[in-house]
Amino acid sequence: MFEKILIANRGEIALRVIRACQEMGIKSVAVHSTADADAMHVRMADESVCIGPASSAESYLNKASIISACEITGAEAVHPGYGFLSENAAFAQALQDHGIEFIGPTADHIRIMGDKITAKDTMKALGVPCVPGSDGGVPDYEAAITTARAIGFPVIIKATAGGGGRGMKVARNEEELEVAFRTARSEAKAAFGNDEVYMEKYLQKPRHIEIQVFGDGKGRAVHLGERDCSLQRRHQKVFEEAPGPVITPEMRARIGKICAEAVGRINYIGAGTIEFLYEDGEFYFIEMNTRLQVEHPVTEAIFGVDLVREQIRVAAGLPMSFEQDALEINGHAIEVRINAEKLPNFSPCPGKVRVFHAPGGLGVRMDSALYGGYSIPPYYDSLIGKLIVHGRDRPEALARLHRALGELIVDGIDTTVPLFHALLAEPDIQHGDYNIHWLEKWLAAQF
Ligand code: ADP
Repeated sequence: MFEKILIANRGEIALRVIRACQEMGIKSVAVHSTADADAMHVRMADESVCIGPASSAESYLNKASIISACEITGAEAVHPGYGFLSENAAFAQALQDHGIEFIGPTADHIRIMGDKITAKDTMKALGVPCVPGSDGGVPDYEAAITTARAIGFPVIIKATAGGGGRGMKVARNEEELEVAFRTARSEAKAAFGNDEVYMEKYLQKPRHIEIQVFGDGKGRAVHLGERDCSLQRRHQKVFEEAPGPVITPEMRARIGKICAEAVGRINYIGAGTIEFLYEDGEFYFIEMNTRLQVEHPVTEAIFGVDLVREQIRVAAGLPMSFEQDALEINGHAIEVRINAEKLPNFSPCPGKVRVFHAPGGLGVRMDSALYGGYSIPPYYDSLIGKLIVHGRDRPEALARLHRALGELIVDGIDTTVPLFHALLAEPDIQHGDYNIHWLEKWLAAQF
């Protein structure tokens, strides 16, 4: 087992990894920008290294600084968390070249899944059902028209290098297609430096259902059921639950087996998420994320496993500590993402937190790097905490979420907490009756 791990991240996810290290008796090294000198992850780690100025490009995305920090501190492995360098194949490769373990999949797997066209081709070949669409990239407008006619309108044009919900355009007819195709390409070029786009049938009312998979890198792989992340704003998840309200044990077993076998066949190592759109009883693959997801705690809650601990174990060459047959779902879990944002526009709202009080009690987990007196810097993501509740069933989890939100105090800044109070009062949310468009429609009707 490693003696020392460096965490190449900040905020709640850095704390999450440090906590796993502490329980495993592993020393932790925090890295931070000058703007984060007072951050909680710096306080909680055994050691810390300043890796650059406030801008992410010069600090949390600075591969050379992070590798130097490993060498200075003698860290043998790096946990990338999510975001930043977590899906950067060049970083995984550079660490390997320096004899440092990357706690995540191989650079090759990151590369394959990071290019969505290649990812889709790979998954199709592994027997995973995909959204009908173009065969690979769509090079020009002529090809776009031909493809759209073949699959039928509406269609969605997506960037092969896309991520974070950016670079996607929907076209409902041929007139819209021309503009959508050209804007998608120029946005993709600007955002990702790669203007290759592909096309899919635009599903009208799907749910976003993702399967958690885990592999040992030697062909053994399991699935840990699904998460329903359909409640999204601008393709960004805000509320996630497991198990999915409409997924039956038979459906879970069927799609879970397909996913576990697929990642087993490519000798995938560590945690991964296979994302699907789900409509009328069918699953359609959209992408695979080769990292720990923000919403992993709902899976941890219902299966009683520590996914970060498992990631560290397999990276160190140890076997996973669970087998498929031993993985059983217990109850229901919900996560809400608490952002430092002002409603109704969700404008970022960094600043000084005067008082912070985290909720507690049975079945409540608050993953947050806040503390009273902390100033949230304006340079990074607006996620300031995740509230996760676990109950014996969905109604109990909902009631617990309501209770825990009532206990939470974040004084001094605006947060998205009022959004969740309002959502909990909605019959559709209470009944689990929603799809990927529900939240946008509801928000438009509110304000
Ligand atoms: P990103 O990597 O940018 O997050 P995804 O491919 O995961 O992109 O898609 C993000 C979201 O966009 C999905 O959760 C869904 O809400 C919507 N979306 C993507 N593809 C389709 C499609 N074919 N039909 C309808 N909605 C889609």
